[in-house]
Amino acid sequence: MSIARHHLNFIDGEHRPARSGQTLDVIDPADGQVFTDIPRSAADDVDDAVRAAKAAFHGAWGRQTATERGRVLMKLSQAILAHQEALAELECRDTGKPLTQARADIAACARYFEYYAGAADKLHGETIPYTAGTTVMAIRVPHGVTGHIIPWNYPAQIFGRSVGAALAAGNACVVKPAEDACLTPLRVAALALECGLPRGALNVVCGLGSEAGAALAAHPGIAHISFTGSTQTGAAVAEAAARRHIPVTLELGGKSPQIVFADADLEQAIPVVVNAIIQSAGQTCTAGSRVLIERPVYGEVVAAIAKRFQALRVGPGMQDLEVGPLVNRKQQQKVKAMVDAAEADGIRVAARAQLAEGAPAEGCYVLPTLLAEVPASHSIAQDEIFGPVLCAIAFDTEAEAIEIANGTDYGLTAGVWTRDGARQMRLAHAIEAGQIFINNYGAGGGIELPFGGMKHSGYGREKAFEGLRGFTTIKTIAIKHG
Ligand code: NAD
Repeated sequence: MSIARHHLNFIDGEHRPARSGQTLDVIDPADGQVFTDIPRSAADDVDDAVRAAKAAFHGAWGRQTATERGRVLMKLSQAILAHQEALAELECRDTGKPLTQARADIAACARYFEYYAGAADKLHGETIPYTAGTTVMAIRVPHGVTGHIIPWNYPAQIFGRSVGAALAAGNACVVKPAEDACLTPLRVAALALECGLPRGALNVVCGLGSEAGAALAAHPGIAHISFTGSTQTGAAVAEAAARRHIPVTLELGGKSPQIVFADADLEQAIPVVVNAIIQSAGQTCTAGSRVLIERPVYGEVVAAIAKRFQALRVGPGMQDLEVGPLVNRKQQQKVKAMVDAAEADGIRVAARAQLAEGAPAEGCYVLPTLLAEVPASHSIAQDEIFGPVLCAIAFDTEAEAIEIANGTDYGLTAGVWTRDGARQMRLAHAIEAGQIFINNYGAGGGIELPFGGMKHSGYGREKAFEGLRGFTTIKTIAIKHG
């Protein structure tokens, strides 16, 4: 498939360049070459998008019933599936992820629209007993124009997750995708118009975070912001929102533990533990980046993971190997520097994957790396790496495992591997994380499961019905009728 050399914003149902005419080059991380460009939008472009969204919210989109909204979203879900292959290729070239993973991401994007299409007319308010002769209703209403700031690791999925819920609840959306990965959000927004979404109800404005992103977070016409990305930028977005007293949902980073007890089914656990760190080359907020292993099986588990790491092949996403490149040069250098610093501190590399033959030298590759006997307090075991780097940490007791698991600033997800039912429940209650998986690790998947973090991993929940509720507010109506 040939990919257009230039991409434009999608505002008020039209493809438009930035008002300034400026553009940003986009590289293919598989070979480091520029393959397209996007508008470098600024505050005036964001303002155009917010105005268009406001007009749709108070006009054609706002007049649709919940059932009608659901029907449009269901059509969009089907259209995404009909274009799955082309969208997967766009995602693969833009983010670097292997084609099979990109296909799964597009299917997940379609599933978000399907889920929220069905949920649109099932979001009820409630009635509340109050004083005699009074009827009280608490009804759910949309916020208005919602802002969506999206990262580059799962552009199609995160777009579906937040835009699907926001539109189903009746909001109109302005999306600022990451400068590295705008292409699938732009394409899906154009498909939505073809499926009958009124113009202006969904706008996509490309550009830098410090320019278009900051302008969106500070825009007075935005009533709610959904942000996914780094903890640091999340704080800046929440600060901008606080100045205007609007609600924010923050899905931030993680340092998620996979805890393997000696009684676990290791054959079942080990492939899942490996997949949890190599998926999207470790650029996943829920990456299982620390494996905590009970001492009696520590050597056996590290050896088994090492064997799998050595067999992994890393290359261009379009070659569809197990692991692709990182999204850009900056991320590649950042991750390499973190691993180099750990090695300089004496941390042992237990295994490294291989670069596939013919992978372009200019590609943004980082070889999956297993670090062993990592002290739990070392910065490599504390800071989010956002690359295919797994830290193996030994523990002796259940209490120590819980202490290590909870011993970072983050609290997004956790995996626990044990056959002991009582221990499963103790850990589920003791671990500070928004999602706990016992003898499986579906983190990031499961559209039906509420998702979000504790501590520096953020607040608010997306996915599931909880995500839909988050895109509404409650209006209480008390009628005195005697
Ligand atoms: P980022 O958080 O800065 O970017 C995420 C989104 O926010 C992008 O759309 C970006 O353009 C936008 N943005 C940036 N600055 C902004 C601002 N001041 N106001 C409003 N929007 C702004 O992430 P990054 O710089 O691309 O990556 C840095 C690190 O963040 C990564 O190494 C990784 O650790 C982490 N990260 C985490 C996730 C996640 O899903 N948890 C996703 C991407 C990156």
